[in-house]
Amino acid sequence: MDEFGPYAPHGSLDVDATALAGAHAELTTRLRDNYPFFHPRYIGQMLKPPHPAAVLGYVTTMLINPNNHALDGGPATARMEREVVGQLATMFGFGEHLGHLTSSGTIANLEALFVARELHPGKGIAYSADAHYTHSRMCHLLGVTGHAVATDRAGRMDLDALEALLRTGSVGTVVMTAGTTGLGAIDPIDQAAELCTRHGARIHVDAAYGGFFRLIADDSADGVAAAPFQAIADCDSVVIDPHKHGLQPYGCGAVLFRDPAVAAHYVHDSPYTYFTSDDMHLGEISLECSRSGASAAALWLTLKLLPLTPEGLGAVLRPGRRAALRWAELLAASTELAAYQAPELDIVTYLPRRDRLSDVDRSSGRILDAGMALRSDEAVFVATYDVTADALAARGHTVTADVGHGRVLRSVLMKPETETVLPQLHARIEQLSRDAG
Ligand SMILES: *Cc1c(COP(=O)(O)O)cnc(C)c1O
Repeated sequence: MDEFGPYAPHGSLDVDATALAGAHAELTTRLRDNYPFFHPRYIGQMLKPPHPAAVLGYVTTMLINPNNHALDGGPATARMEREVVGQLATMFGFGEHLGHLTSSGTIANLEALFVARELHPGKGIAYSADAHYTHSRMCHLLGVTGHAVATDRAGRMDLDALEALLRTGSVGTVVMTAGTTGLGAIDPIDQAAELCTRHGARIHVDAAYGGFFRLIADDSADGVAAAPFQAIADCDSVVIDPHKHGLQPYGCGAVLFRDPAVAAHYVHDSPYTYFTSDDMHLGEISLECSRSGASAAALWLTLKLLPLTPEGLGAVLRPGRRAALRWAELLAASTELAAYQAPELDIVTYLPRRDRLSDVDRSSGRILDAGMALRSDEAVFVATYDVTADALAARGHTVTADVGHGRVLRSVLMKPETETVLPQLHARIEQLSRDAG
C-alpha cells in the first residue's frame, strides 16, 4: 500500500469495535443453525467446506476484490482464470478451446444452451429425464423446445429413445449428463457420439457434478468407467462445477467450448469497459458481467497444490468412490437395507426393505429425521430421493406399488474421510431402519 502513498480511511466507514464484536457474536450464533457439512457423518447433499488453500486464496484476493469481467477490473486474476480454464480443458482432452469460470453450474449450462440455440436456431435441445432441472428451465428461458428422453434401468439416457427423437430432425443439441445429480448415473456419451453425428446434433456434457471424476476414469478397482469420460474430448461443450468436487467455495462453475469460434455469439460492445488492453476480456465471452476474481485465485491456488492429475485431486476422489463400492457390498448382504441401484460415482441410493412402497417412503423419512436427531457425536445425516414405483420395478425391487412414488435414501460420499467410518454409518442406518419399522 505504501508505494501509492498514505491516505486515511473515511470516517463514515468507522464502526464501533464493541458493536462489531456483538454483531459478529450474533452471526456465529446464527450460523450454528446449519448441518455439519464438514463431518464424515454428514452424507446428505453435495456439500462440504472448501479446502484451506481455497479459503486462503479467496480471502487473500478478496481484500483486493478484483472483478474478472474485464482486464481493467483484475488483470492478475483474469490471467489466473485463463490458466485454470486451460487446466480444465486439458483434463477433458480439449485442445484449442474457449471457456471461462461462471458463478455456478446453472449459469454455465445456460451459456452452453444459449450457444446451442444460436448454432441451431429453431431446433430443440434433448436431455435425459434424470438431467438436472435447470435444462428444462433454461430451455423455457431461451425459448427453445426441450425434450426429456427416457432413462434406462440404470438411470442413463436410453439411446433407443434418443435415436427415435433424433430421427424427427427436431433436435440440434443433446445434453449428456456425466453424473446425474440424483443417482450419479453417467449417460453413455461414448455410445451416443456416432448417433448424434449421424443426425447432425451437437453434444453438450453436463459434468457439473461428475467432471472431476475424469481424473480417476481408468476402469480400475477404485476408479470409474473410462469410456464415457474419454468421449468428452470429442463433444462440443462441457460444464464442470469446481464448487462441487473441486474443493472450492460457492461461486465457481465453468463452461468450456471445443470450438473457439463460438465467441462470435457473445459479441457485444461496452462503452464502460475494455479499455486497458486489446487482449480478450473475459466479459467479452460470457453472459455474466461482474464476477469474483477471488474465485479464480482460489481455484488457481488449490490446483497449484492439488493439480488435476490422478495423484493430485484424483486422490481426493478415490476414497469416496471406494466407500460407495464398499457400501454397495454391505447393502447387498444386508437383510434390512437394499441398494436402489449400483453406484457409478460416489452417490449411493438405497432403501429399507419393505413390502409396500408407502412403507419404504415412511421408513425413509423416519431414518432421515431420526438420524439427525441423534446425539451430535452419533448423528448421521442422509438425504432422500423420490422415485416412481415403475423405476423401482425396473431395477428388480419387488415392492407393492400401493402409491405411485415414494422416497428412498440417498447419500453423497464426497468427503474422503467418510471411507473410514463407512461400516459404522451402514450399521447405524441399518439400526435406524429397524427402529423405523
Ligand atoms: C449441481 C448441478 C447443476 C447446477 O449447478 P449449480 O452450481 O448448483 O448451479 C447442474 N447440473 C448438474 C448435473 C448438477 O449436479
